[in-house]
Amino acid sequence: MLSCQRSQELFNESNECIPGGVNSPVRAFRAVGGTPFFVESAQGCRVKDVDGNDYIDYVGTWGPAIHGHANPEIQEAISNALSRGTSFGIPHPGELTMAETICETVPSVEMVRMCNSGTEATMSTVRLARGYTGRDKIIKFDGCYHGHVDSLLVKAGSGALTFGNPDSAGIPSSFAEHTIVVPFNDREAVRNAFEANEGKVAGVILEPIPGNAGVFPPQEGFLDFLRAITREFDALLIFDEVMTGFRVSLGGAQERYKIQPDLTCLGKIIGGGLPVGAFGGRREIMEQLAPNGPVYQAGTLSGNPLAIAAGLASLKKLKDPEIYVHLEDMGRLLEQGYRKIAAANNISIQLQRVGAMFCLFFNSNPIRNLEGAMSSDRERFNRYFHGMLEQGIYFAPSAFEAGFLSTAHQPKDIEATLDAAKTVFSKL
Ligand code: PMP
Repeated sequence: MLSCQRSQELFNESNECIPGGVNSPVRAFRAVGGTPFFVESAQGCRVKDVDGNDYIDYVGTWGPAIHGHANPEIQEAISNALSRGTSFGIPHPGELTMAETICETVPSVEMVRMCNSGTEATMSTVRLARGYTGRDKIIKFDGCYHGHVDSLLVKAGSGALTFGNPDSAGIPSSFAEHTIVVPFNDREAVRNAFEANEGKVAGVILEPIPGNAGVFPPQEGFLDFLRAITREFDALLIFDEVMTGFRVSLGGAQERYKIQPDLTCLGKIIGGGLPVGAFGGRREIMEQLAPNGPVYQAGTLSGNPLAIAAGLASLKKLKDPEIYVHLEDMGRLLEQGYRKIAAANNISIQLQRVGAMFCLFFNSNPIRNLEGAMSSDRERFNRYFHGMLEQGIYFAPSAFEAGFLSTAHQPKDIEATLDAAKTVFSKL
């Protein structure tokens, strides 16, 4: 058994002054049971807890750590920026470099505005889509999570799903009624939603590869269909690439699937581990933002120099194409290993993966939407999760979260993970 006495003490104390003991719900381990470990430090693909246990980490701070933890180049960039001041509240050159970098890299983005989190990015994008089109309704998909935005916390994924409240309390029904929710990969449902709300839909927002109810890739042609139908009904296509951006390829899912959305939300990797979000898209839409246009959006810390420095260092490293080759190689190794282990133990799994994001479902059928994800064996997942943790491998503490690979993961780490999985699967 792992010793987790210090983590337990800290968690007990935290519960007295932080709701649930955590600053973001999934961290509390409620879905899988047990106590979260408290981190002492993180380096490369490993995290060490306050009781001295060391784990190979597939959470990667929920996506941002594509270069592993405590990457020296990112640290140096932060430390250089730190010596010049922590926040200015007035433009600085790094913001321009960041905007140019994003516009050069993300195919559909002509202009971009920085903010402080993925949630701010999606919230502002929805407002912009409504302001630009003069319409109120938004179509979203079952199980897609777009941060804790009122109008998007309707049938949401991630922690909202894990804890059984995908429709959060505290959201007036008059807000939620502007959100139309349809199953992912279901063209007919999307067409029906447009036809039933003709002239009222501002846009369709989606994770182009949903990663917040497990991972389920879009079926062939589904994204093309969404591009065509949004044009047909004069609505905007919004890709929430907070998770997929710079992860599934340098230009994100839109580059991988060759689809040009009208607006794109970004976060996670562009902050290099510091708090950042961004949203961008077609010039004529982005020009509607204040101070040029009537759609208001702002932020005291937006474009923060430390976050920009960390993000730029992270993005600069990603320009090396070998990085994506390595991530794909590590992903393939993991996937093939899991398939073999599951077959040898006669356990049905779906290891669903796109590049460096993946998810393990205990299910005999491929997962294409939330309903499929929900039909997976969650009890078995929980046993698997704790079994792996005992062996020093840390996956996200929920059957509905993605796993992330980083450039710090090397074949020896994948092999160690597979060795652990062999032991754990034999007892599942
Ligand atoms: N969109 C997606 C696709 C996400 O995965 C997340 C966070 N996991 C968000 C938005 C919200 O980002 P943040 O937690 O930075 O607010």
